Amino acid sequence: MRLFYLFLPAVLACIGSLYVTHDSHASDQFEGDLDSSVVAPAEAASPFAPDETEEFPEARTYGAKDQMHEIHGVSEVYKTRSLVGSKKLALTFDDGPSADTTPQLLDTLLKYDVKATFFLVTGKINDKTRPIVQRMLREGHTIGDHSIGHDDSRMQSEEKFRSRFLQSELTIEQMKDLAVTEQHLPRQREIYFRFPFASYGYQKGYQNMNVIKEISNKLYGENCINMVFWNMDTADYVSGMTKEDVYHNVKAYFQGGPAVTYHVEKDHRITKKPYVVTNPPRGGVILMHDIHQHTVDAVPMILEWALRAGVEIVPLKSIKEYSFEGKKCELKPEFRKMN
Ligand SMILES: [Zn+2]
Repeated sequence: MRLFYLFLPAVLACIGSLYVTHDSHASDQFEGDLDSSVVAPAEAASPFAPDETEEFPEARTYGAKDQMHEIHGVSEVYKTRSLVGSKKLALTFDDGPSADTTPQLLDTLLKYDVKATFFLVTGKINDKTRPIVQRMLREGHTIGDHSIGHDDSRMQSEEKFRSRFLQSELTIEQMKDLAVTEQHLPRQREIYFRFPFASYGYQKGYQNMNVIKEISNKLYGENCINMVFWNMDTADYVSGMTKEDVYHNVKAYFQGGPAVTYHVEKDHRITKKPYVVTNPPRGGVILMHDIHQHTVDAVPMILEWALRAGVEIVPLKSIKEYSFEGKKCELKPEFRKMN
């Protein structure tokens, strides 16, 4: 029973995103909710307890059974257990950079002196947005890869996935190179990837986690690409969400209470659905999107509340599961484009 409740939201996310991928505009807005609507029973503290799971789950070998949320999926492996109950919050923003909204968000983060991680759609990096990415690095934020074009790997052959993943990773590395050569910053060591729609696993005859490991070995000579999911979903991608909705969702993950998630309608529309968080994780990685004005407007409210509530905003790289301490992870020289 517990497993059913854990996986139901991810199943809905899977279904929902499959349908919305037919609409390119909708697909860019939609992210799967992995566990935000879980109303866990009291004994459900156990999924967060230490177990045999490796801290760096990418190190394991993936097989045909590792599909999306199933078996070793997000619900168990990627819950960022070390933060549960910690009153610590890692801010992550996907789908940018946006020339309109991202600079406003960076202003807010600077004002409150907090660091975030941006999962960039690398196909959006151009002459207009490249300075925004460079500003992220200059101001101490972390950049990660969110694919070239918000790709859904379920729709890709192994060959296509491999070539586009490699290209996207190299674009992120070029952004790091630029920060070193033009801004004289230390090179960002951390290498993070977040699957659009959380759609990882066994796809069309191949296991894309193993392809990622292969590419990591090619680029870095070791297993360095760390997958990042989330355990708190603001549902900021759902149409009709307001800044207040986003703010209340964040609070509910710490204090419990009313929140908003999404619902997949019979006609496949994604709509707002109220629910109550009864067993809040009180710490974790939160999913937001810097391409939405209501999200950007919610962030000052969230940060003011965090100050009052004693919730600490921590960078992803400081968290045990996302730490690169002890790992070298240097891009091989032949892949660098220093100029
Ligand atoms: Zn996304």
